[in-house]
Amino acid sequence: MTARILDGVAAAARVREEVRLESEEFTRATGVTPGLVVVLVGENPASQVYVRNKRKSCLDLGWFSEIHQFPATATQAEVEAEVDALNADPRVHGILIQLPLPKGLDEQSLLERVRPEKDVDGFHPVNVGKLSLGLPAPVPCTPAGIARLIAMEQIETRGKFAVVIGRSNIVGKPVAQLLMRKGPGGDATVCVCHSRSADLPGIVRQADILVAAIGQPNFVKGEWVKPGAAVIDVGINRVEDSAAPKGYRLVGDVDFAAAREVASAITPVPGGVGPMTIAMLMHNTLLCARALTALAR
Ligand code: NAP
Repeated sequence: MTARILDGVAAAARVREEVRLESEEFTRATGVTPGLVVVLVGENPASQVYVRNKRKSCLDLGWFSEIHQFPATATQAEVEAEVDALNADPRVHGILIQLPLPKGLDEQSLLERVRPEKDVDGFHPVNVGKLSLGLPAPVPCTPAGIARLIAMEQIETRGKFAVVIGRSNIVGKPVAQLLMRKGPGGDATVCVCHSRSADLPGIVRQADILVAAIGQPNFVKGEWVKPGAAVIDVGINRVEDSAAPKGYRLVGDVDFAAAREVASAITPVPGGVGPMTIAMLMHNTLLCARALTALAR
């Protein structure tokens, strides 16, 4: 079997178009333009690329968007004051604190300082709790993108055995929550694995749906994949490649070439989950703009 490639670029373009239409309708009805501000601390080169792309996506939709940049030496109090100002700014419906933060800053306390209604990343404990309870709330963008891609590609989750490798707050845990929730896109039997799991290959071999969010290049071998499984590869890993223009190329957590011969569907890296993440950030920003506008009336 050669797997169907799940094209995240095309799916993300469809989500962005949907957000554009809904946003235009929202602005016509309310006079409000959605706004997203990204707080960037330090000079992490990957983060700088990510935040520029996020702002560009907003500007493409005609939204208000700024990057509020601080040096790596910024103090906790300075970043807190910025979050407080953004919490109070009516132009801003979404606040995103770009992670990772430089050492010395208390990440959790900053994430908790963002008003839950402006928490477009879905990282505030209130929103994490709501996801766990099955209540409406912004869902972390990468898991939300995975769920949307699975739905758009009509991959059945109900009654399936889903294995998630990785238990991070950003990816693994919320993906597991989404796959196990009641209703469409959920209803899977979910197993979450991590670095202490025994017999990982044996568990993965049972997976009808496999989500790999580990951060290790080509970690999942082709022979671990159950024939006919749907494989969602979240990993983004740089591997040296002297033939590539930048001296490296991006690969996922799954050995793509081997897994695609066994799976029924698989996301490529790049071009799979990554583009969905930013599209869902736009989706979440619009959700927050809607909810905040309704609260203000
Ligand atoms: P993370 O916080 O480092 O978590 C990695 C998880 O993998 C941990 O739960 C860890 O287990 C587990 N793990 C590590 N080594 C393992 C092993 N040998 N066997 C089994 N499990 C193992 O990473 P993350 O933030 O979830 O990100 C995971 C990957 O997704 C990274 O490559 C990241 O770049 C990528 N990512 C992509 C997007 C996107 O938009 N496409 C967004 C976010 C992240 P322990 O808990 O036991 O340590």
